[in-house]
Amino acid sequence: MVFADGEDLHKTILTAPIGICVLNADTLVTEIVNDKFLQVAGKHYDEVFGKRYWEVFSETRPYHEPAMADVIKTGEPFYGNEVEVTLTRHGHIENIFVTFVYSPVKDKAGKVSKVSVWVLENTQQVTEREKEVAEKLAFRRERDRFKSFFMQAPAGICILRGPQLVYELVNPVYQQFLPGRTLLGRPIFEAMPELVGTPLQDIIVNVYKTGVPFEMNELLVPIAEYEGGPTQDRYFSFSYQPWRDENDHVDGILAIAFDVTGMMTVQQQLREAREQADRQKRIYETITSETPDLMYVWDLDYKFTYVNKALLNMWGKTWDTAVGYGFRDHGYEEWHATMHERETDKIVATKRPLRGEVAFPHATLGRRIYDYILVPVFNEHGEVEAIAGTTRDVSERKLLEEELAKSSEELQAINEEMAATNEEQAASNEELTATNNQLALVNEQLLEARQKVETSETALHLAIEASDSGTYSMNTKTLEFYASPRLKELHGFGRDENVTYEDLVGQIREDYRQIAHDKVQAVLTKGTKFDLTFPVIGFHDGKQRWLRSVGTFQQVTNSSDTYFAGITNDVTEQKEDDQRKNDFIGMVSHELKTPLTSLTAIVQVANSKLKNSEDPFLAGAMEKANLQVKRMSKMINGFLNVSRLESAKLLIDKKAFDLHGLIEDVVKETALTVSTHQITVHQCDSVTVNADADKIGSVVTNLISNAIKYSPKGKSVEITCELVGDKVHVSVKDEGIGLSTEDKAKVFERYFRVESSNTRHISGFGIGLYLSAEIIHRHDGEIWVDSEPGEGSTFYFSLPLAKE
Ligand code: ADP
Repeated sequence: MVFADGEDLHKTILTAPIGICVLNADTLVTEIVNDKFLQVAGKHYDEVFGKRYWEVFSETRPYHEPAMADVIKTGEPFYGNEVEVTLTRHGHIENIFVTFVYSPVKDKAGKVSKVSVWVLENTQQVTEREKEVAEKLAFRRERDRFKSFFMQAPAGICILRGPQLVYELVNPVYQQFLPGRTLLGRPIFEAMPELVGTPLQDIIVNVYKTGVPFEMNELLVPIAEYEGGPTQDRYFSFSYQPWRDENDHVDGILAIAFDVTGMMTVQQQLREAREQADRQKRIYETITSETPDLMYVWDLDYKFTYVNKALLNMWGKTWDTAVGYGFRDHGYEEWHATMHERETDKIVATKRPLRGEVAFPHATLGRRIYDYILVPVFNEHGEVEAIAGTTRDVSERKLLEEELAKSSEELQAINEEMAATNEEQAASNEELTATNNQLALVNEQLLEARQKVETSETALHLAIEASDSGTYSMNTKTLEFYASPRLKELHGFGRDENVTYEDLVGQIREDYRQIAHDKVQAVLTKGTKFDLTFPVIGFHDGKQRWLRSVGTFQQVTNSSDTYFAGITNDVTEQKEDDQRKNDFIGMVSHELKTPLTSLTAIVQVANSKLKNSEDPFLAGAMEKANLQVKRMSKMINGFLNVSRLESAKLLIDKKAFDLHGLIEDVVKETALTVSTHQITVHQCDSVTVNADADKIGSVVTNLISNAIKYSPKGKSVEITCELVGDKVHVSVKDEGIGLSTEDKAKVFERYFRVESSNTRHISGFGIGLYLSAEIIHRHDGEIWVDSEPGEGSTFYFSLPLAKE
């Protein structure tokens, strides 16, 4: 192309719709540049005109300088088609697409003198085209991605393609709805003929036609297990979406379906279960709301899931403010809350229920004691999932129990042991009675024999010799003495040895010899009965034996001769038995004292606390318990004293004191507990005795309580003191049942009790008087009784006045 310089041509270039820039081929300086070129380049005229081309477009220089150089060199034009160029336009770096031509302008000699650059920008077309391509690609990728996602989706998914709605894609879950049925590649209504004529068919067809999606929950779809088989009711939740091609035309349906048949069944079961549970809850509710017991359930987070009315009331809360909250929210103290938490953990670990007792302050009732049972609630795997409990207020019962349990238990134990001891005593009494009877019998025989054979003493002795007893007789005038062979044996001599009275006495153990002598003297001088149990040391064998000898002073008929005759038995075994019994009693009594002391204290405290109780039983119970405990104390002390006495450990601690004051004290104390009898003290001046005040006090107590025990209610008991010489005589007189002559002689014996219809219901052990007598004797005093059956009794004792 050859340009002829000229104004018109220049104008044509400047206004051309294509960017044109003309350069000097030697210098590459811009000589002509038009507006269109400047517009594409995004530069001002001054930036380009008269400037070297590559200085203006330095960013494209590396790519296109060689092409331009080639054009100049070869004279052939260079076409750049839709080249992407990075340019600084209006100060911004931009990527643009241009189509340009480097076109050589030759002079007449054919040498390239100028280069014209023709430029057309097509950035917009290019980007639009590219976008379109990218979108299509993305669309395809997206569809692929969807498809692969569909294949793995947990829902049943299929794609139905074309107007025939052919299964193009079926994911495994969808296939599982229809196991064994061929779907892929087949039109839906052919593969699933059971849908034909159902509303679902219309729905599907409609989605394809209108492009409007359709969704439905829990629709009943009768489907056959296999093609052509009988249909079963199945439930599906599904959605049909129109499936569009890349041109946005509906060309299929995307179906997403969930088989909810199982869920529907479960829901049905759940509904039924819920109804059942509701019914049960109502029943349970009725039961639990009517009980005063506290009932509750808490879960393993220690939060209450159930509380009954009683507990709500106690907390002063409503269901909503109670359930879902923990112990501390309900004001449980820290120790209490942690205790239940520990228990919960324990139940979870052991799966066993647990019972406990707890005391804490109730909002209005003060300190209460609660008995509670916690049981595990198991889930279907047999694991503990909650704790259910009931709590009962046992304060009242507990108080009673606590106060009475100890006392009644201990009383019970004491009673039982006492009963046992009692039985033993009864047995021993029987034995003694038997011996007595035997003696009486032998005595009778003796007398009879005496009368019969009067002068024939030998015959008599022979008769008795038949028994196991030793016998003796002594003519009180001639002091002629006869000892039977058995008696000699009992004293450790040979049966045929010649033995005198003195020989026999010589074998009596030293500490008893004087006593025996005195008693014999009493028989000879006063004619009293001889009865002594004493130890002898065998003459030959040196063995100790206990013998009981009973003798009487006897007048032989038709003769002026008097005899002291008697019978002796070996009572070693009884004696040893006695000793053991004694030890036992001593031990038991001693052991009983300690619990009894604490029992006394407890009962006294309980008494003072419960005295004013509103419950009349409670108020009275401790009073009675107190009395019983006191009685028990006395008895036990009695037994202890007997045992001490027997083992010679009863200590008498003598001090000077005022006897009258002591009597007054005893009477006052007795009057505190006795309201059935009138007790009066007469004529008692103050007298000082030197004695063991406690022990003498117990004698007076014993006499007064006997007077009360053995006389009817309403009668009076009178106490007097009288100075007789250098002694004081104290008497206790009652208007009671009295004593027969026979019994009078025995009441001071150990364990002796009058057996009659009057006394059978009165409890006692027969040791009070025995002990009293022993105590008085150790004070060098006397004790005796005046009495007539039915006329009352007066018991006396005397004590020497204190010297000085
Ligand atoms: P206890 O009264 O425990 O049986 P005691 O040794 O005090 O034992 O009395 C022995 C027995 O003497 C009593 O069982 C009773 O038969 C009789 N006795 C005691 N005191 C009286 C009395 N005041 N009146 C009638 N009998 C009495």
